Amino acid sequence: MRAFALLALLAAHACSTPPRSPTVEPATWELAGTITWEGHFRRPHETRTIPATVRVQRGMARLRIDLAETWASTRPASTTTFVASEREPGCRVRPPGAAAFTCERAGEAGDRLVALLRASDDPAQPAMVRRWQHPRLGDIADRAQWATTAAGPELHVVWHRDHDRAELRLRPVGGPTTASPPDDAFAVGEPTLRDRPPVPARFSTLAPGVHALVLPDADTRSLVVEFADHVVLCETSTDNGAGERLLAAIERHLPGKPVRHVLCGHYHPHYTGGLRPVLARGATFVAPQGLAEFGREIAARPFRDPPDALAASGRTAAVEPFAGQWRHADAANELLAVDIGADSEHTDEYVVFVLPRQRLLFQGDLGWFVRGDATQAGGDRARGLLRAIDARQLPIDTLVQGWPTVGRVTMPLQDLRALLAR
Ligand SMILES: [Zn+2]
Repeated sequence: MRAFALLALLAAHACSTPPRSPTVEPATWELAGTITWEGHFRRPHETRTIPATVRVQRGMARLRIDLAETWASTRPASTTTFVASEREPGCRVRPPGAAAFTCERAGEAGDRLVALLRASDDPAQPAMVRRWQHPRLGDIADRAQWATTAAGPELHVVWHRDHDRAELRLRPVGGPTTASPPDDAFAVGEPTLRDRPPVPARFSTLAPGVHALVLPDADTRSLVVEFADHVVLCETSTDNGAGERLLAAIERHLPGKPVRHVLCGHYHPHYTGGLRPVLARGATFVAPQGLAEFGREIAARPFRDPPDALAASGRTAAVEPFAGQWRHADAANELLAVDIGADSEHTDEYVVFVLPRQRLLFQGDLGWFVRGDATQAGGDRARGLLRAIDARQLPIDTLVQGWPTVGRVTMPLQDLRALLAR
């Protein structure tokens, strides 16, 4: 890192032109330390810290970043590669294990990480802070900042993606080299377009009074349970925009039936991300204690610039905690929300939605998944789900799954037992 500052100084002395332009100077520098992820573990704000390295290469008016993460000492590191132009925003991203790069536009996660690291090649650099409005988290900041520690300079990066948040703590490894990286380090082939523009929610009826809403671009399926003069929405998809699309579909397909209660199976972003717009319409969030607390936190997220529907409404979110299970019924329908907790083998609290009159059970991501053309049972999670169904003698014959949205939507309970027994 210091060599960079030195090069800049030398360049400034060598002629009267401005100091070296890092945008054209080929170089490689490496950092090693940890990455801490938050977003998809057993409870809100739980994190996991693992070893990580970052290698930055410059050349061909491009910048390449390899972020290598070691999730288990017995497995090779998984590496995400970002290649960006030095002149234009946006970048190409190759996820771990993928053969091809995909395109990301300006402002997307890869572009923001590249901007942070590009501005941080020297410990003397001031902090780089980029404030923006995340469609689920609200007004937040990505940042990169050098700190002086007893062990030397340390780069601290805070980076938000669509569905998680990462913090990197990295120290320089060796010194930067000024030798040009090979040209093919910057080749991205024919990147695939990942563009999946938002489309209206797909509405379908699973059984009398029980409807599904799928947002294909978000890869989420929500459940709408219809009562005499209102509906209950279960699972709110990924973010504010997705939540608005769910509400628009309910207004279109079930006019005159407002969402009176909203529930989420578990705290992960694909289930709780669209809660705010539903709360803005006056629905009550019903959840087990921990998830109810998380709902209050979601309602308190800063959406000031600009205000979202909840912030603009001025409403205090209505939250109703329950323990064990919550029953809601009228002459038209009946819904039982059951917290199966640790039986989910996924999160500390996990709500499944039982429709006793239709003998259906809707669950988010426990039952099965599709590999190639084959449907496979969800291992420990599926076993835990069956354990919870049997222990409570839940009155159901058929399972409905929220995620993934591709592959099977429903499965007879007996078929899941058979699949697990294989
Ligand atoms: Zn999950």
